Amino acid sequence: MIDKVRKKFAEDLKKLSDKQSLEDLRVKYLGRKGELNKILEKVKTLGEKERAEHGRQLNAFKQEIEQLLKDSWQKVKTASRQLAEEWLDITAPGAKPLVGHWHPRTLVLREIENIFKSLGFSVVDGPELETQWYNFEALNMPKDHPARDMQDTFYVKNPAGGEDLVLRTHTSPNQIRFMEKNEPPFRIIVPGKVFRNEATDASHEYQLHQFEGLMVDKNISVANFKAIVDEFFQRLYGPKAKIRLRPSFFPFTEPSFEVDMACVFCDQKGCRVCKNAGWLEMGGAGMVNQFVFESAGYVRNEWQGFAFGFGIDRLAMLKYHINDIRLLTGGDMRFLKQF
Ligand SMILES: [Zn+2]
Repeated sequence: MIDKVRKKFAEDLKKLSDKQSLEDLRVKYLGRKGELNKILEKVKTLGEKERAEHGRQLNAFKQEIEQLLKDSWQKVKTASRQLAEEWLDITAPGAKPLVGHWHPRTLVLREIENIFKSLGFSVVDGPELETQWYNFEALNMPKDHPARDMQDTFYVKNPAGGEDLVLRTHTSPNQIRFMEKNEPPFRIIVPGKVFRNEATDASHEYQLHQFEGLMVDKNISVANFKAIVDEFFQRLYGPKAKIRLRPSFFPFTEPSFEVDMACVFCDQKGCRVCKNAGWLEMGGAGMVNQFVFESAGYVRNEWQGFAFGFGIDRLAMLKYHINDIRLLTGGDMRFLKQF
């Protein structure tokens, strides 16, 4: 009889989970109407000798149950405390690790490079610290030339002595550097940092990113330039991005022009971005001045070409609707995370 109840108790003990189930178990086995008392009732009907023997067994069983209840309850308490301490919500969303990504300027530059590569252009590179000859003289800006004052320049002492070096004010020195080593025909773009010694505001930075384009061959005309640059802007900003040219002056091109792009934000109806002009100023361009070809060692009038320079920052700002150029160099993660 005891064995049967012991087996049942062992089963019930497995279900012990909280204070209430502990109390229920105690009542069920040790309570006034509990299993043990039921056995006791039967023991009472036995003969004296048997009664004493069963009484002892029953008493031992009672102690056994009390001990088991105590031990099991202790285990349940320890386990539940551990559970509370080690509790982990496996359904909670994970904490995203911070991963790097491309800067908006880099994204635009990659797009620029891909477009021009598909048009047969190579991407070339050059030094940021230049001699005055490459930055100015070779590009038809002699020492007394007024155009030299148009660009506020950072001068850097040359550790080797002699004339000061300059932080390049444009990427154009690489026209000369490339032509010194290469014979036409060729098509190149030269992206890179350029520097202007000026105060910064919402549309001016002392460090800018530009890219230069140069295409040289026989019989190159303004029509070739317009076709290439139209194609470029349409791939970058959409089919409505046509360009127009306005006469201008640069020492290294003749003729020279300013390049405007039809405002892609308002369909030329006039908006805040284009200051109601319907056109956006994009950069300068022109047919390469024969003087520049001579600086690079070519024979005058043997080749023709066009050159242009656009600001990468400006292109990125228009592409992503960024209204302050300082955001591009500020390193503010709240801004950069959007890209
Ligand atoms: Zn507009």
